[in-house]
Amino acid sequence: MNKQRFLLSLIFPCYNEEKNLDPLLEAVCAELEGFELELVFVDDGSIDETLGVLRKIAARDSRVKYVSFSRNFGHQAALRCGLEICQGDCCVVLDADLQHPVRVVKTLVEHWEQGSKIVRTIRLDKGAESLFKRQTSRWFYELMNRLGLRGLKPGMADFYLLDREIIDILKERMKESGLFLRGMLAWIGFEAAEVTYIPDKRLHGLSKYNLVSMLRLAFTGITAFTTIPLVISGALGAFFLVLCGIYMLYVLYVHFVTGSTVPGWSSLMIVTLGCNGATLISLAILGQYIGLAYLEGKGRPHYLVKERSFSQD
Ligand code: UDP
Ligand code: MG
Repeated sequence: MNKQRFLLSLIFPCYNEEKNLDPLLEAVCAELEGFELELVFVDDGSIDETLGVLRKIAARDSRVKYVSFSRNFGHQAALRCGLEICQGDCCVVLDADLQHPVRVVKTLVEHWEQGSKIVRTIRLDKGAESLFKRQTSRWFYELMNRLGLRGLKPGMADFYLLDREIIDILKERMKESGLFLRGMLAWIGFEAAEVTYIPDKRLHGLSKYNLVSMLRLAFTGITAFTTIPLVISGALGAFFLVLCGIYMLYVLYVHFVTGSTVPGWSSLMIVTLGCNGATLISLAILGQYIGLAYLEGKGRPHYLVKERSFSQD
């Protein structure tokens, strides 16, 4: 492969990764010698020394570019920023904690050279992630597939190679605010290749994804791509309506035929609670979609930058 022919951008979202950046740069230098590289670091409002370390490495390595957000805007916003500022003919997005091994990048590039516009990675679960994380991620992808977003598989993460054409589509034509890049890539289509890898353990620090942030991302992923939950909530309402109708027939029968109209407190409560529950669930789902439309309507930026290592064109 002629490594000089193209510029490869590596995009690293960083939130409190001060101790991982030097080892990361060492790994990049060791594994990707000879490649023409652009190293894009997006500091997502870190509260440790990440920005200080980035300033230092940018001063000594001209391939390093960084931006620093005014506050924490989240992993997906950091990725979008990286995609917006990178200039490579293709880019690889990967975690700054060395969990996504830099050695895999060469294989991704080989697939790109053979014509794949998107090269995804599939994590082989060999114990680096907790059982809880593996299982919840499996359930999530199964749900996404059932809801109609094909192409997402367990073991996928924000670790992939994108051709310039795909970067430009994401940049210019998919400006939505509910960011779930993995899903956006599945939606885009194009020729995609898959590469499996064994993840490494996070080098320093703790994962920033807890149960709540994972649920939030899953919710964004679902609502950004499908309105099927609205259909489900409607179906739930219809189901309870039919159930209540049947019960009403029974009540009428008891009233007019048997005449024994003993007040049935328990059954009444069950019907009332059941119907109210279904109504509330439907309203909540509807409300979430309206809320998302409201946020989208405001058209706020995905992130704000307080410092960058390069001048803006
Ligand atoms: N990250 C980020 N903003 C956040 C949370 C995480 O930029 O609000 C970065 C983080 O520094 C890392 C990547 O996103 O490079 C993935 O996060 P993490 O390793 O915590 O997630 P996990 O690998 O445990 O899913
Ligand atoms: Mg990680």
